[in-house]
Amino acid sequence: MVDALILSPHPDDAELAMGGTIARLVAEGRRVAIVDVTSGEPTPYGDEATRAGETAAANAALGHPRRENLALPNRWLEVTIANRKVMAAVIRRYRPKVLFIPFRLDAHPDHLAVHELGIRARFDAKLTKTDIPGEPWYPPRVVQFFCTHLKLSIQPTFLIDTSDHAAAKRRAIDAYQSQFYVGRDKPGEVPDMVAEIDAYFGSRIGRPFAEPFYTDEPIAVSDLDTLV
Ligand SMILES: [Zn+2]
Repeated sequence: MVDALILSPHPDDAELAMGGTIARLVAEGRRVAIVDVTSGEPTPYGDEATRAGETAAANAALGHPRRENLALPNRWLEVTIANRKVMAAVIRRYRPKVLFIPFRLDAHPDHLAVHELGIRARFDAKLTKTDIPGEPWYPPRVVQFFCTHLKLSIQPTFLIDTSDHAAAKRRAIDAYQSQFYVGRDKPGEVPDMVAEIDAYFGSRIGRPFAEPFYTDEPIAVSDLDTLV
C-alpha cells in the first residue's frame, strides 16, 4: 500500500507537474510510487536509453520514490478495455490512498488517455468476478495534476506548499537534458516556465513556491491548522 500513486503519461510529466510535492512527500516519509505509463518514445529528442537514464537521475533528485514504467506505446495510448485492465492491476498492486492523474483538459492525447484510464481503472480495480490480477481496491481519493502542454489559466482546488523542495524539483526536471536543453533554441525554457507557475501559486498563499491540484469530489480538512 502507498500513500500516493502518480500515473505519469511520460517520464517527465510527474516531475513537471508535481515534482515539489513528490519530493516533499518522500521527505516526510510517505510511501510514494510513480508509474510512467509510456517510455516517452518515440519523441522528437533523445532515445529510450537516454530517457531511462534521465528518469533514474530525476527520481534520485526526488528522493527515490518507487518507480516503474509500463512501456505502453507512446502516441498510441488509447482508452481500451485492455489498457483499463493494465491500469487497474497497477492500482491493485500499489493500493494507493490518493491516486494522482493528469487534469482532464490537455493538448496531448496521451495525457487525456491517462486521465480517462485513471478514472475508469479506479472503478474497475474494485470489481469482483474479473480477470484483473490482484485484490479489489478503490482509491479513496483522486487528485488531478496539471501538465504543461496546454497553456491553461487554471483555478485549482488546493495548493501544496513546495517551497522547501523547489530546488529538488528543478534538479529533477533538469535531469531531462534531452527534453529541455540539448539542441533547443531556448534551453531551459520549459523548466523556467514551470518555476514561474509555481512561484505564482506560491504567491497566492504567501510562500515562495506551491503546486496546484484539482479534485472533482469535494475534499475535507481535518482541522483548521491544515488551512494555510
Ligand atoms: Zn507528457
